[in-house]
Amino acid sequence: MSKPIVRFAPSPTGHIHIGNTRVALLNALYARREGGTFVLRFDDTDVARSKKEYADSIETDLKWLGIAPDVIVRQSDRFDLYDAAAERLKAVGRLYPCYETQEELEFRRKRQLARGLPPIYDRAGLKLTDEDRAKLEQEGRKPHWRFRLEPTNVTWDDLVRGHCHVDCGSLSDPVLVREDGTYLYTLPSVVDDIELKVTHVIRGEDHVTNTAVQIQIFEALGAAVPTFAHHSLLITASGEGLSKRLGHLSIKGLRDAGLEPQSVASLAVLVGSAEAVRPVADLNELARLIDFSHISRAPAKFDESELEHLNARLIHEMPYEAARERLAQLDADAGEAFWLAVRGNLTKVQDAVEWARVVSGPVTPVIEDKAFIEAATNVLPPTPWDAATWKAWTEAVKTATGVKGKALFMPLRLALTGLDHGPELGALLPLIGPERAMARLSGQAA
Ligand code: GLU
Repeated sequence: MSKPIVRFAPSPTGHIHIGNTRVALLNALYARREGGTFVLRFDDTDVARSKKEYADSIETDLKWLGIAPDVIVRQSDRFDLYDAAAERLKAVGRLYPCYETQEELEFRRKRQLARGLPPIYDRAGLKLTDEDRAKLEQEGRKPHWRFRLEPTNVTWDDLVRGHCHVDCGSLSDPVLVREDGTYLYTLPSVVDDIELKVTHVIRGEDHVTNTAVQIQIFEALGAAVPTFAHHSLLITASGEGLSKRLGHLSIKGLRDAGLEPQSVASLAVLVGSAEAVRPVADLNELARLIDFSHISRAPAKFDESELEHLNARLIHEMPYEAARERLAQLDADAGEAFWLAVRGNLTKVQDAVEWARVVSGPVTPVIEDKAFIEAATNVLPPTPWDAATWKAWTEAVKTATGVKGKALFMPLRLALTGLDHGPELGALLPLIGPERAMARLSGQAA
């Protein structure tokens, strides 16, 4: 079988959010798993709303997620292709000019509804003679162009939704080219899918109705129809859809908040699938978990707070090598033993900064029972200290003072770290080291 060619086709009109990421990842990871090609196509035919700044940020976001595209194209560079396709459709009578204004169309729609008729376009444009058109153009009207749908039942086998069918006889002929000559999304997308030899169109289910129309356009242009997979969309816990315009859960925002790309990717891919939502550190493994036939058809509900839980779980297992560079950037790289000691207490990598301070100071010790701390200090084990020191010390303190359990551990923790919670002291104590420990136990900030 030939290798798949897939595409992620965002409009660069805002920062992409976690829902857009679901589309991007399903495409990119499917291509990766099957040894195919992942195309990033900027749908920027709306020149007024599309911005380079957003296109750049989308590239940055994909890179951060670890799914850099193999090919990047911009629709704004490809108008010649769309013009040529439009001419072909005109030549075979599938693209025809219409002159109605919005008000006229609205009036007709209301009239049809009042008569109990479906409000579909009556194809008045198709009935115009050359003379009619010349007259309308003399009046200063400019045409928009509609695609003449065949009144057939269009069917396809969707990888997510199974056998789908749409009766095109009940749809209005869609407008493909506006009065000012600009293209709506429908035609350029098909032209690019043909030209880039896209084999699988993997996109959100909000595009299902476009699909029947686009299948007819593929056929009218004499091209093979790709395979479609329409996955469910993400919605928030309160049932709201995500919006790029409203800046919902942008990838940039999640990155700035210190979340790991793998947490975001795991949630985006696994929510609404047959797999339990869990942190998957390796994108190749996440790719293996994709099964289009098991993506639920209902909208995939997720809670923003799940991201933090996933992130914490991911970090609790994160090897030092994976964290090292980030720790260095945060000035909190205190070595592997430090990372292994603290990672279980972190939700985000940057939380390590606080524990790095607890290890190397300054810490203001909290000492309530001075006599107890003195007694404990007297039985500190000899140096060098290692992972067994804490146990040996606390046994000795117990023997010397008769104190045990929380009453023993908590005053030592408060004196050594200034905090009543934190990573296991068995691991922290050798990192703090005898010099700082002694100073803190004697009440000095160190
Ligand atoms: N620009 C379209 C969107 O963002 C692309 C849809 C498609 O994948 O065909 O929804």
